Amino acid sequence: MVVTVAATGPGTDAEPVSSTFFASRYVRDPLPRYRMPDRSIPREAAFQIINDELMLDGNPRLNLASFVTTWMEPECDKLIMGSINKNYVDMDEYPVTTELQNRCVNMIAHLFNAPIKEDETAVGVGTVGSSEAIMLAGLAFKRKWQNRRKEQGKSYDKPNIVTGANVQVCWEKFARYFEVELKEVKLSEGYYVMDPVKAVEMVDENTICVAAILGSTLTGEFEDVKLLNDLLTKKNKETGLDVPIHVDAASGGFIAPFLYPELEWDFRLPLVKSINVSGHKYGLVYAGVGWVIWRSKEDLPEELIFHINYLGTDQPTFTLNFSKGSSQIIAQYYQLIRLGFEGYKNIMQNCKANAAVLREGVAATGRFDILSKETGVPLVAFSLKDSNHFSVFDISENLRRFGWIVPAYTMPADAEHVAVLRVVIREDFSRSLSERLVNDIQKILRELDARATHAVRVSSATAAQSDDGVVAKKSVLEIEREVAARWRNAVNKKTGPC
Ligand SMILES: *Cc1c(COP(=O)(O)O)cnc(C)c1O
Repeated sequence: MVVTVAATGPGTDAEPVSSTFFASRYVRDPLPRYRMPDRSIPREAAFQIINDELMLDGNPRLNLASFVTTWMEPECDKLIMGSINKNYVDMDEYPVTTELQNRCVNMIAHLFNAPIKEDETAVGVGTVGSSEAIMLAGLAFKRKWQNRRKEQGKSYDKPNIVTGANVQVCWEKFARYFEVELKEVKLSEGYYVMDPVKAVEMVDENTICVAAILGSTLTGEFEDVKLLNDLLTKKNKETGLDVPIHVDAASGGFIAPFLYPELEWDFRLPLVKSINVSGHKYGLVYAGVGWVIWRSKEDLPEELIFHINYLGTDQPTFTLNFSKGSSQIIAQYYQLIRLGFEGYKNIMQNCKANAAVLREGVAATGRFDILSKETGVPLVAFSLKDSNHFSVFDISENLRRFGWIVPAYTMPADAEHVAVLRVVIREDFSRSLSERLVNDIQKILRELDARATHAVRVSSATAAQSDDGVVAKKSVLEIEREVAARWRNAVNKKTGPC
């Protein structure tokens, strides 16, 4: 690249007017890290410096840790770049963008079987992601519960929410930020989702809602929302309570309607009052968009809606943030009309088929237990049958050498002793990549096996020598185990996978 440097006057150390970037001083000068530099640099130099440093980030397409979209069509990229300078909140100035968001809300509400007529507007809003959507849904439940308790002349200072211990970290954030006690149903080995029976047992008069997950982050498994609905209906009837359900369909909301249309998990179940979904997961949009849909107007307390008018006409808003980009909303509308039901269905079927290829390949090694279910989010979660010689953390680290980013993590309470690897299958993960990944896992198993055998030999040799007064050295295996244990401790199980 040619860097053209403007002459900056006498006495400056300006580069020659035209030289290549790698001949310029910017290649050897230290980069500003703490303070803003006093002087400007040419835009080409700034671009090259940042671009080059970013080469050391992982390749998003090989980031199998994440559910979040890493590929979109070039036409949509064009729409995104074309709207990158539009502030979403300027609704009066950008009425078309606002209209596109409303159309997305309507389409998603219909997809989730909201009880609305064909041309009726649904109640919902676009958010930055499921996290913001969940904060809003949680707030609506908390406020409704408080209002009801006030009417009944009862105390309203100890709200709680019931979830499984497998909830995503955003529920813990909601609980802490908005002062709601989080009551988690513990997991157990072999059962990694919320047990509806135990959840309903935990419900009491202070429960603002039970949150079920359609697509557990850990294993992709769908929780049994229908059973939860039935059990909770019964409990409500028996006790006079009125506890509702929220479904966190961050990853499953764009899967179930296409792959399992018969599965009842959504507004078809009367107690389900709100649902969130990440537009940027299987909604197939780049990071930065989520949705929350309410069953009806009655489920969103009016006092949480703010009416702003200084940008023009009256605009109701119910979000945590004010300004944000418009691109993701526009991109969501693009995907919905470009793909239609047919397109989403084809993509989800492909993901499911490629997940099956990976699952069978991993199972065929004979070395792993598969924890993910066939029905659910297309991912493969697997744990080592025998982790005496090496762990899933070793496998994860070694996969990095081949470019793969596959997270390893331990399960939440009470299944902390189970450590798993998880591969999320996204739209852009084709069959050939599935097959290559299986090959690379096999290669790594062979290498780790060879190292483990060697380590056993070294350690028995060291044991034999120590009788002669030679200081016993730790075996390679012991050292490796210690390193793995330290790493395991450092990995925060809740912030690892996303
Ligand atoms: C990803 C995820 C979230 C958080 O969603 P963001 O869109 O990343 O904010 C919440 N719940 C579940 C089940 C998830 O998978």
